[in-house]
Amino acid sequence: MVDHSELQVPGYEIPPEMQGQVVITTLDRIYNWGRRSSLWPMMFGLACCAIEMIAVQAPRFDLARFGMEVMRPSPRQSDVMIVAGTVTKKMVPAVVRLYNQMPEPKYVVAMGACASSGGPFKAGYNVVAGIDKFIPVDVYIPGCPPTPEALIYGMMKLQEKIDKQSIRQVRWYQKGPDSVQIPVPILGPDLIDPRRAEELKRIAAAQAQTQEG
Ligand code: SF4
Repeated sequence: MVDHSELQVPGYEIPPEMQGQVVITTLDRIYNWGRRSSLWPMMFGLACCAIEMIAVQAPRFDLARFGMEVMRPSPRQSDVMIVAGTVTKKMVPAVVRLYNQMPEPKYVVAMGACASSGGPFKAGYNVVAGIDKFIPVDVYIPGCPPTPEALIYGMMKLQEKIDKQSIRQVRWYQKGPDSVQIPVPILGPDLIDPRRAEELKRIAAAQAQTQEG
């Protein structure tokens, strides 16, 4: 059921006999309303937080109320990536590749302490200190794990963020490449971010010089 008041721009009077059938709105508002009311999350989870994400889709919490019940098993059909769980170095290349494969407009939610900052495993040799080191995050949800209610609240915050966007400014309508393509990190003995290649070369050269001296 469409709530017409969500779309109606204040200041334009609609005659009483036409209320509920006609709205006067802006292109931005109807465009944002359409996208924020049908966000399709990607269906994947990384660790314990994913259990809470699954609960959100079950009848007790029911994300279908927000038009978000269609979890897609393909990044090509997904609007939002919920990074739910501990992000190990081994998984980062896969997560970045999936992000690159999502079409614009796309959003990322970091669910829980692990995805936001490494959480209880931050000091671990095999864990990254937050997925935002590699892909842009729109909403962070604190907690270990966040409750299903917290995830719903985070998704509502994402909706608020979408409400504030304008098609004149969003990156996917700008000239140039229509997507943020992030170089996929290389997993060797440790994880290497190709964007830091020059910096790492400089550090290695400086260390080699120190050892020679
Ligand atoms: S934040 Fe807590 S519940 Fe979520 S994946 Fe990390 S350890 Fe598990």
